[in-house]
Amino acid sequence: VAWSKGVIGNAEKPFVISGPSGVGKGTLISMLMTEFPSMFGFSVSHTTRAPRCMEKDGIHYHFTQKSVMENEIKDGKFLEFASVHGNLYGTSVEAVEQVSDSGKRCILEIDVQGARSVRASSLEAMFIFICPPTMEELEKRLRDRGTETEEQVQKRLRNAQNEIEQGTSSGIFDHILHNDNLQECYANLKKLLGLDNCVTSPK
Ligand code: 5GP
Repeated sequence: VAWSKGVIGNAEKPFVISGPSGVGKGTLISMLMTEFPSMFGFSVSHTTRAPRCMEKDGIHYHFTQKSVMENEIKDGKFLEFASVHGNLYGTSVEAVEQVSDSGKRCILEIDVQGARSVRASSLEAMFIFICPPTMEELEKRLRDRGTETEEQVQKRLRNAQNEIEQGTSSGIFDHILHNDNLQECYANLKKLLGLDNCVTSPK
């Protein structure tokens, strides 16, 4: 698939958001989509991991089987894919097209390997990496979230160090945001997206 560079203006360019598990990517995205519901659309990824309690198929992810996804990858249906924490994750071309067709700005929440692939693709995007204040704080957030088993928490923490190194030194990312304080990080994200002067209707 060739997305023609230049057709999508800077303000509407899709953006990629990456960062270690537990850093707050999901929270930041849901804050953005709540404040600007008509502006952003989430690219629904495919994954072979099992759904968490509150997760819905087709909304949070397209939950799928490894063999099915591998065949679809062979058929060229994915813009990018990667093995993350022992499961397969990927962005289908269709997921991105669905958002662009709706006229919204596409958000891709993917890992660093995926970000690298998108960088190398014809999709012109803005790349943002979210950093935790410390590894201790990341561990606390991941545990407090309570969505993973102890073994999964350990695996995610082992991967986090590498992701942070890749995210902050590989040159893939245009911007690095520190999520020490959620409200400040959200304000900085809005600034990057050119939304700092946007007035939203009071709730
Ligand atoms: P989780 O299992 O916590 O939902 O996601 C685990 C990791 O997979 C996160 O770092 C998330 O950004 C990444 N991820 C989610 N969807 C995709 C995707 O479509 N492609 C890639 N490469 N990574 C993804």
